[in-house]
Amino acid sequence: TDNIAYARSLIRTIADYPQPGVSFRDITPLLADGRAMHAVAHELLVQAQGDFDVVAGIEARGFIFAGAVATLARTGMIPIRKAGKLPKPAHRVTYTKEYGEDHLEVSPDLKPGMRVLLIDDILATGGSLKAGAHLITAAGAEVTQIGVVLELEGLGGRLVMPQTRALLSM
Ligand code: 5GP
Repeated sequence: TDNIAYARSLIRTIADYPQPGVSFRDITPLLADGRAMHAVAHELLVQAQGDFDVVAGIEARGFIFAGAVATLARTGMIPIRKAGKLPKPAHRVTYTKEYGEDHLEVSPDLKPGMRVLLIDDILATGGSLKAGAHLITAAGAEVTQIGVVLELEGLGGRLVMPQTRALLSM
């Protein structure tokens, strides 16, 4: 739609950040725009086709979109957090990043049998979404839909998480 094209136009590209040769896609101008944010949240909801009963977001930017979609859908929101942030984690997964290992954790609010729409801002290599999906499954819940605002091409994420629906790609 026009509103999604408008949201796309707000994504700012920063050359050589955080390292030389990397082209960083900065979504903060999109966050700052009400029309773009509403359009993105609405489209993430529409493409999930009602096939969920709770929305999970991956720390940190995934929280923003997951919260917006959950509010539109009138469902709850479950934060998938980096290690050590939750006072009472019920489940944890370990995953490999570019430099070493990291962990994701979830609280006991994610109940067995819940049907989950998993949201992040960006699909890059797919490592974050893969770990998030694994965690949800480990909790006995089911990932029925995966949505991102933006897919970065050429980083292999599509191969790792082929079920991901992306609003935009670049
Ligand atoms: P992945 O695990 O798919 O490699 O990376 C996805 C995560 O890294 C996302 O949660 C996203 O926040 C972050 N990320 C990777 N590349 C970029 C980028 O160019 N811009 C922004 N804003 N985040 C990125």
